[in-house]
Amino acid sequence: MAVDATQPYDDQNVFAKILRGEIPNRTVYEDDFALAFHDINPQAPTHVLVIPKGAYVCWDDFSAKASEAEIAGFVRAVGKVARDLGLVAPGYRLLANTGTDSHQEVPHLHVHLFAGQPLGPMLV
Ligand code: ADP
Repeated sequence: MAVDATQPYDDQNVFAKILRGEIPNRTVYEDDFALAFHDINPQAPTHVLVIPKGAYVCWDDFSAKASEAEIAGFVRAVGKVARDLGLVAPGYRLLANTGTDSHQEVPHLHVHLFAGQPLGPMLV
């Protein structure tokens, strides 16, 4: 079911469980602020999710409540993941669904990183 972006954080969501080590993941990168792992149902040859370590439902929650250090750390981590995967020259796409109309399904902020093929124009 799509996420209501205004709901309180639910610590039983699947990404909270991944952060606690209760569910396995294929980790690409981890630091104090972020965890990056392969999407379980990839929509492109490279499809990585980058999530902040803090408990934030969505982009709105994160941008309003996270500290400067968390925001800087997370944004830098997203860039580093793409750089470390060698994606800067061929290019990549970032996407952060937020709330019902966007079809956000997991209520922990995540940035999708798509790459590995020409991705075409944005559909919306
Ligand atoms: P949507 O499913 O509509 O893309 P989201 O933007 O919330 O909505 O994306 C959630 C993403 O999380 C999906 O791409 C899904 O494949 C992925 N996902 C769900 N469970 C896991 C998991 N255990 N490990 C890795 N990725 C997962």
